[in-house]
Amino acid sequence: MSDPRSLIPSVDSIVAAEAAADVVARFGRARVVHAVRAAVDAVRAGLSGSGGGPEPHEDMTDPAIYLDRARRALEHAEVPSLRHVINATGVVLHTNLGRAPLAEDAVRAMRDVAGRYTNLEFDLDSGVRGSRYVHCVSLLTDLTGAEDALVVNNAAAALVLALNTFGQGRGVAVSRGELVEIGGGFRIPEMLERAGARLVEVGSTNRTRVGDYVEVVEAGEVAAVLKVHRSNFRITGFTEEASVGELSALCRTHGLPLVHDLGSGLLIDAGALGLPEEPRAVDSLRAGSDIVVVSGDKLMGATQAGVILGRGAHVARMRKNPLCRALRVDKVTLAGLEATLRLYGDPARVVRTVPTLAMLSADKEALESRARALAEALEHAGIRAEVVATAGAVGGGTYPGVELASWGVEMRHSAGADALAAALRQGDLPVIGRIVDDGLRLDVRTVLPGQDEALVQCVLEAWRRAG
Ligand SMILES: *Cc1c(COP(=O)(O)O)cnc(C)c1O
Repeated sequence: MSDPRSLIPSVDSIVAAEAAADVVARFGRARVVHAVRAAVDAVRAGLSGSGGGPEPHEDMTDPAIYLDRARRALEHAEVPSLRHVINATGVVLHTNLGRAPLAEDAVRAMRDVAGRYTNLEFDLDSGVRGSRYVHCVSLLTDLTGAEDALVVNNAAAALVLALNTFGQGRGVAVSRGELVEIGGGFRIPEMLERAGARLVEVGSTNRTRVGDYVEVVEAGEVAAVLKVHRSNFRITGFTEEASVGELSALCRTHGLPLVHDLGSGLLIDAGALGLPEEPRAVDSLRAGSDIVVVSGDKLMGATQAGVILGRGAHVARMRKNPLCRALRVDKVTLAGLEATLRLYGDPARVVRTVPTLAMLSADKEALESRARALAEALEHAGIRAEVVATAGAVGGGTYPGVELASWGVEMRHSAGADALAAALRQGDLPVIGRIVDDGLRLDVRTVLPGQDEALVQCVLEAWRRAG
């Protein structure tokens, strides 16, 4: 018998066939030739026993199977790597899913500057070179009471800049209870070292008093004091820490800057979101911090940014640090941040206009009725979905241990929850849910307004594909 591989059509004949015309028109001849050759090679390799041969339903003499494989590969390659997904986890600031989705105004402002020239570093009044660091400053100082503000790439960058500016080649005092890992391998001691400062540990893991700082400050061992908000974990029981007020008094006496790494960037009263109290920049500054560092894309609900707030002279030193250039913020980010900050000018509406705040303050009953409507739509399409009370989270390393009571739907597929979860992730519009007790749960709190119908479609398709 002849070698079955000789029955495989030639690449040229496959690409030249009438049936290939639309694929060639869409992707270009060169790419189609390349993809068809890969398909032919895979089938040939399979016939030689190295796997990946024709599928049982494929007739290897039929040019269409190679064209199909090539089309699928080319379409797959067209799917962007970074794309929109539906967050049905109930975790509002999901770091893996890009943290804060932005307000409409922010998106519009970003689009406005993205494809055009801007006055990023140009002073329109004088017609000479300006500074990118003027944008957002007055909004930030108005909202927080800071004397000055500086925006860099993210809060981690802001912290490196602060430590490098005030502590390079010198010691920085940090409580042993605050030598934390913020997430993603970002550890305070390592950051400090990389910023060129020397860590001077004070106190113990559970208890640090102001007296512990006094010792190292009076011994002239440190050039600055860093206080780190334990945003992503809690210590309870026999604990004590020095307050910002106490540290500020100590620092002022010795002319040292007090840097407070706060993290979350909450600009409104946590009570308005139904959340427990969380220190805000305004509180820290009032209590005497010289520099406060917060994230733009956590509870501020803005773009990824590191917002530095504080005393004029200190912020000016940070702005002049050459490292600032390496951490600088992009125009599109600034536009989104500025537009978001403007929404805070209307405190009555901001919890509705900034999506992060809107999701956090969503009405429990409204969430329940959305979950019921979702379950009904799914049942209507033949999928059994149970309405369940769920427990989400604020996320983004904020509010550890705080559960966001919410509502969602739970489904059980015969192929199992893992298979359904995978099918949901692999859809044209990926949906990320959570597996709880062998069921797949979709929490409606983090499903953005207007996504409910798309979500039903995604579930239907995934349900079929899961088998
Ligand atoms: C999240 C967080 C950071 C890091 O913020 P990014 O903007 O993600 O770099 C730093 N410090 C604290 C206390 C945080 O919670």
